[in-house]
Amino acid sequence: MSRVFIALGANLNQPLAQIKAAQAALTKLAHPNQIVHSPLYQSQPMGPADQPCFINGVSMFDTELSPLALLDALQAIEQQQGRVRKVERWGPRTLDLDMLLYGDIIYEDERLTLPHYDMKQRAFVLYPLADLAPDLVLPCGTPLAQLLLSCQADDITQLPSQ
Ligand code: ATP
Ligand code: CA
Ligand code: CA
Ligand code: CA
Repeated sequence: MSRVFIALGANLNQPLAQIKAAQAALTKLAHPNQIVHSPLYQSQPMGPADQPCFINGVSMFDTELSPLALLDALQAIEQQQGRVRKVERWGPRTLDLDMLLYGDIIYEDERLTLPHYDMKQRAFVLYPLADLAPDLVLPCGTPLAQLLLSCQADDITQLPSQ
């Protein structure tokens, strides 16, 4: 069984409801009673600025699924919630589920890179991750707390608990 951290993001079609639905769907993938959801944040979009703000969060759970089976499951949840893949990168979406960490695994193939390739730069990932696991150390040996120190948090706002 492995401990995984999934980043959730949404900015279309009632994003808060999308995130809540995704949390419920992730619960079905988790070992029973082994899922914790971070507080949620509102963040400014990366890339194209002419799109709504995002709601972001991170969920932590233990799973028996392999990394690629978990990726399949995450993409199935995105599809169920109406994700339409466009050519434009970082465009608006009903739901984005990114696998940040799968245990201490470092892995790369054409479908999956672990840890997530850009997580160290993204405040909307690092802050909810730290809410769940403040003492986390990445597989490369870097403490999460160190990444937070060098990360600008001026474009994210924690939402009141729902
Ligand atoms: P970014 O990856 O920069 O956050 P994005 O989430 O908008 O951008 P997507 O279009 O959702 O990008 O995903 C592109 C591809 O990334 C997916 O088809 C998937 O195979 C691949 N991928 C590689 N590593 C991961 C990972 N750790 N979690 C989720 N998808 C991944
Ligand atoms: Ca993403
Ligand atoms: Ca993604
Ligand atoms: Ca910033």
